[in-house]
Amino acid sequence: MFLTLKPGTTEQGIEELVKKIEELGFRAHVSRGAERTVIGVIGENAIAAREVFEGFFTVELITPISKPYKLVSREFKKEDTIVKIGDVTIGGKDIVVMAGPCSVEKEDLLLSIASSVKKAGAKVLRGGAFKPRTSPYSFQGLGERGLKYLAKAKKATGLLVVTEAMNIQQVELVSRYADIIQIGARNVQNFELLKEAGKSKKPILLKRGIATTIEEWLMSAEYIVSNGNSNVILCERGIRTFENATRFTLDLNAIPAIKAWSHLPVIVDPSHGTGVRNFVGSMSKAAIACGADGLIIEVHSDPEHALSDGRQSLLPENFASLMQELKKLARVIGRNL
Ligand code: PEP
Ligand code: MN
Repeated sequence: MFLTLKPGTTEQGIEELVKKIEELGFRAHVSRGAERTVIGVIGENAIAAREVFEGFFTVELITPISKPYKLVSREFKKEDTIVKIGDVTIGGKDIVVMAGPCSVEKEDLLLSIASSVKKAGAKVLRGGAFKPRTSPYSFQGLGERGLKYLAKAKKATGLLVVTEAMNIQQVELVSRYADIIQIGARNVQNFELLKEAGKSKKPILLKRGIATTIEEWLMSAEYIVSNGNSNVILCERGIRTFENATRFTLDLNAIPAIKAWSHLPVIVDPSHGTGVRNFVGSMSKAAIACGADGLIIEVHSDPEHALSDGRQSLLPENFASLMQELKKLARVIGRNL
């Protein structure tokens, strides 16, 4: 449930409520809006304590939250969350495109891909240094050396960097180099990792799992937000269905669904969602048309020799022409790219 406070409630009034919430064994989540302060009372069956709060003069309204996820729900917060990193905003009017290779490989290769995606209009460089691979015999990533290459590419181009942390220990390490920490599809329900991401100061890109319902995915986001990090960007990247003609089935229904049920920004990964280079453009356009706040696209200048996911990677020149088309589309729907 959440408590909407009367306008002009003092800090002392807020503190008293927080104290009471904690005394009752719940967690308080204070969000100070432009006009009103709202306090989330978070915990199992919090609504049972409704009467206690009805007694406070500072409480104007008590609202139960019907969904199992609370802090990430639209019921709790009406306005869209806008994640700001430097001059890049995700979740507002701007459409943000993240692009780069699946894995960080050679330093000069990364630098050249980074400068071409930057030139085409990407704002964030992607690339995995720690790679979750189905086979233990596949390339596992360069580790910290890869993070250092990403940092160099960031310095050279001014792009922000998003890269994956696969375990708790990597969260701190990755956050020393990256602007956004990715939690991959395989780790969407690694609850200890989600809690650690909740303690990080860096925004989290939370991919949907391959067999995760939208509700379960939002519950995973709730782990991060309830542990203190409200800068979560969701990423639809395809789910596993009976269809095996494409690598995954990109569930674009999830975009309007997330927009209806949550205030968090949501982007789309058409590269993993299709697994087919030639389908990436169409699904990128579809994603923007249905309301996604951005895209994350794999780009490689020598996809035939890429160490991972070459089949779904666009050539830099194809990425650049796709960006031109996306710019036109963005204008039509009243967004900036
Ligand atoms: C990736 O981004 O390269 C990746 C491994 O993504 P996912 O976790 O969605 O499979
Ligand atoms: Mn990949």
